[in-house]
Amino acid sequence: MELNEDQKKKIDVYFAEKLPVLACPLCHESDLRVNNRLLEIPEFTLGGSQGIAITWMPVLAVICANCSYTMFFSALGMGILETEEITSRVSRVRFRPKETEDE
Ligand SMILES: [Zn+2]
Repeated sequence: MELNEDQKKKIDVYFAEKLPVLACPLCHESDLRVNNRLLEIPEFTLGGSQGIAITWMPVLAVICANCSYTMFFSALGMGILETEEITSRVSRVRFRPKETEDE
């Protein structure tokens, strides 16, 4: 999902207020680039007869221009996505693992 102008402003405010001197934790360079699209990290939960539940965590990626180390920030925690927006837009998928199909 590409960031809109309102989200870009919220990201600027977030970093100015919370992490004004952010640097790469590995190489310590401060040339960091905000990815212009939100990403989703799948979270798998194994659970008995329900099979596997997959939920998606929306994240903002910040990439070090020097070593390419990538940091993820919760889009919900940063306030650039609202919970209602997530529940209406993001899927929650359940399926049975292949091993149990013949049972
Ligand atoms: Zn780095």
